[in-house]
Amino acid sequence: MEHIQDALANKGHVVAESGTGSGKTICSLAPALEFALRKKKKVLYLTRTNSQQKQVIIELRKVNEKKKVFGLGLQGRQNTCRLLEDRPDLRSGSAEELSKVCGDLKKLTLDGGKGCKYYANLLDRETARIRKHAVKALPTVEEFADLCGKEGNVCPYEANKALLRETAVVTAPYVYFFSPMIRRSLLDWMGVHISDLVVIVDEAHNLADYARELKSWDLSVRALELAALEAREIGDPKLHEDMHISEFCHMLSGMIKAIAGEYVIDEDGLVPPKEVETRVMSYITGTSRDVKVLVGNMVTHGDIIRERKRKRGKLPRSHIFKTALFLQDWMMLEESEYAKLVIGGDNPCLETYCLNPAVTTDVLNECHSSIHLSGTLAPLIEYRDSIGLPEETMCISLPSPFPKENRIILYPEGITTRYETLARDKDMVPRMKGIINDVLTRFRRNTILFFPSFSLLAQFSDISEGTGRDCYFEEQGMTQEELMATVHDFKLGDCSVMFAVMGGRISEGIDFPDRELEIAVLVGIPFPKPTARQRSLLNYYDVKFGKGWEYTVKAPTVRKMMQSIGRLLRRESDRGAALILDQRMVQFKADVPEAKLSADILSEIDGFFNISD
Ligand code: SF4
Repeated sequence: MEHIQDALANKGHVVAESGTGSGKTICSLAPALEFALRKKKKVLYLTRTNSQQKQVIIELRKVNEKKKVFGLGLQGRQNTCRLLEDRPDLRSGSAEELSKVCGDLKKLTLDGGKGCKYYANLLDRETARIRKHAVKALPTVEEFADLCGKEGNVCPYEANKALLRETAVVTAPYVYFFSPMIRRSLLDWMGVHISDLVVIVDEAHNLADYARELKSWDLSVRALELAALEAREIGDPKLHEDMHISEFCHMLSGMIKAIAGEYVIDEDGLVPPKEVETRVMSYITGTSRDVKVLVGNMVTHGDIIRERKRKRGKLPRSHIFKTALFLQDWMMLEESEYAKLVIGGDNPCLETYCLNPAVTTDVLNECHSSIHLSGTLAPLIEYRDSIGLPEETMCISLPSPFPKENRIILYPEGITTRYETLARDKDMVPRMKGIINDVLTRFRRNTILFFPSFSLLAQFSDISEGTGRDCYFEEQGMTQEELMATVHDFKLGDCSVMFAVMGGRISEGIDFPDRELEIAVLVGIPFPKPTARQRSLLNYYDVKFGKGWEYTVKAPTVRKMMQSIGRLLRRESDRGAALILDQRMVQFKADVPEAKLSADILSEIDGFFNISD
């Protein structure tokens, strides 16, 4: 807490690694709020998931018991716009599209037309009761929406927005701060200048990847088919001389397939500079200026479509517009900050991949202070550098509050999932399966097998047949409901086995307290795949910090492992054994000092549980 207080007093930033059970939320929220109330600042607590957001509200209620403070949670229209219940055609709308539809409907309502009935309800009603209840109860977003339903069926999104100016703290998803357009609106609703904002970033180990994704775009063959279809629906206008939009889309589609054929190795490839521009120029037999004019024409046609749809109350979406914007970005983006990739597979695409998360996160330096929290953030300097925080940022690593003896981490010799070894040594996988079988046979406790990838998981899935235990699988593309149902069933057992992946939703976001999980087996080290994307990232960090391997391979690998192992201990009384089936663990000894090379894994686990039982 003192570090946070110091940072707040000095307009500084704090990066803190602190394990589960250390009370990260309250330890950051309480001093930030105390400071904000005293110095007329506001706090924005950013979370990745709805459950983290709920946790912030629960902690806020505890603060409120001692000192009155008002705060609210905020979620996008996708979750809180009541009109989406009546208009399924709007449900797939992006934040920007829904914002436009909503803006038009509100204007129509204000002009006396048939706009949005939930907004009309809000205008018609006295909302003092909603405000009074919110100030008193500090509802979660879901509770606030229920309240709005009971109090005259008013729009929860707008009712919430109207109260933000009175809040001292708002908790919202990352996008509310890191998307410039949404941030401007939020600061306006909160009535605060960015320099008076204290930002807390929860689960900060996600931030760099999130920030890169926010600034990365792609153009796929399927998206081009939709653009061509859209063009035909409006009479297929000409773009350049005799070339129509659908023909241009068809050409782009063929070009992407050809580039993929030439440059993709395994899953992706780097596109040489000016390759796309040169091919387009050659196709239209024009200059680079002609290409720019052509793409500009495409933007205009797309914009007209969006406006027409908007006037009809539809989502203002145009595939032609999206295609043209992508091409403009592709031609204009700073090559040193982005990798231009081609991705193979059934639906090949071009991608502008943002290498520098600070393009998005630099804005943190405009705040009064920022506080970054996670259970697995080491190496902290890498995090600080990656997201562009200043050198004087306080980086602190707090010890786990749980007794050290509650967990053992073991790894054996002579075992590895190294790609070359697996290809050469055909006994390696059977040997690993043998070890896993021994563990599952000897210790009838809830166990998760964590794999570096779904493809490796598939190679080991036959283990489930001989265990005589209930086995569950995390699967690619599972909906959240399906995943939670699977996890629920796994937790009900006392000797169930789960097959999951490191870096997946189970390893990163689900708690397994008490005996819900007692053994975690990491089947290999989750090194990033040596794709073109990964190589570009490594080169970028080598040039920028001289630490390509440390920042883009080692750090994310350790975080993924520690997230998985971290599932074992969620409460002080929990005990658990982690087994890492890969001798390359020795490279990470300094990062995971408690990991121990073991010549007899079974006896050591036996001894550990005999003491604990
Ligand atoms: S006013 Fe509310 S309910 Fe109506 S469209 Fe906007 S967000 Fe949806």
